[in-house]
Amino acid sequence: MSLKDTVNTYKIAFFSTQPYDKTFFNKYNDSFGFELDFFETQLNPQTAALIEKALIVCVFVNDIVNEAVLKQLAEKGVKIIALRCAGFNNVDLDAAKKYNLKVCRVPAYSPQAVAEHAMAMILTLNRKTHKAYNRVREQNFSLNGLLGFDLFGKTIGIIGTGNIGKAFAKIAIGFGCKVLAYDIVTSAEMEKDGVRFVSLDEIFKSSDIISLHCPLNDQTKHVVNKESIVLMKDSVMIINTSRGALIETAAVIEGLKEGKIGYLGIDVYEQEEKLFFRDLSADIIQDDAIQRLMSFPNVLVTAHQAFFTNEALTQIALVTFNNIESLLTENDIENKTALLV
Ligand code: NAD
Repeated sequence: MSLKDTVNTYKIAFFSTQPYDKTFFNKYNDSFGFELDFFETQLNPQTAALIEKALIVCVFVNDIVNEAVLKQLAEKGVKIIALRCAGFNNVDLDAAKKYNLKVCRVPAYSPQAVAEHAMAMILTLNRKTHKAYNRVREQNFSLNGLLGFDLFGKTIGIIGTGNIGKAFAKIAIGFGCKVLAYDIVTSAEMEKDGVRFVSLDEIFKSSDIISLHCPLNDQTKHVVNKESIVLMKDSVMIINTSRGALIETAAVIEGLKEGKIGYLGIDVYEQEEKLFFRDLSADIIQDDAIQRLMSFPNVLVTAHQAFFTNEALTQIALVTFNNIESLLTENDIENKTALLV
């Protein structure tokens, strides 16, 4: 039986929807003609009940797609889980297989968007343009406290050299940095561009700036921890635009307090699902670790916005729809990295 022969309509139930998701998915739906149902709430065991006759559920980075949720979705006749993101650490793929659900993702919508944001964080932390902006508006034209360093000639260590890591290496090379990299697979193409693949320990020991671009999994969880921080250069800069749990938050707070870590830029945070993508400006935040992090003058936090460009949102909408269409018509997707189960 083809997926098209099921009782459910070609309805896609979107979770964790923001206004810009609606704008982009509505804009590109004309040539596909799906029925779109947008929910602002996160998908979790309680909110799964909202789904009515949808064949497809579309989720984002902080939706909970564990066994309990997948079981409910299967019982409701859902056949496809379409992730509108690249990372899939929030989905229990074994359970999806068990309940006969197809899972697809958008493997590379704009690696440049994330790589450019990582460099933006480095430049902001280094040259303190965020502080200069506020100072000048208050007619404070003093330079005291704004001293930076030349990026030219500095060593940048990249952990994870997939689509984003590669794009980021090109930017770093453009700035005249020496680029070291660690990945479970080396890239001859990057070596040709001058990137040197080294051990993880070598990245920690030799880098002035460390940028994380690997996925979150059992091997990479807390790759930045108490022990790895000890190996790092004094005053190291750490940038994480990948997934929050790559960093052991308590360990970096200690490292910052001791002055071992000179700069920290994070676009992702271990407990971000309770905070990010919402306006909490009138709330009392109960997460003491994020409050402590935000109190350091040498920490820059952005709320998972590295992907957030016009080009990326366009690609996300188009690739998500194409993935769904391919699964409905051919039960397969040509780009094998897009199909997880
Ligand atoms: P990718 O799959 O193209 O590349 C990931 C790379 O990590 C691969 O080269 C892989 O070999 C490597 N890797 C896997 N396990 C590793 C390990 N144990 N140690 C070192 N390297 C390892 O993915 P990508 O498109 O480059 O994205 C990377 C990550 O960035 C995603 O997993 C996602 O978590 C994150 N991301 C964040 C945003 C954002 O807005 N902040 C947007 C997109 C992606």
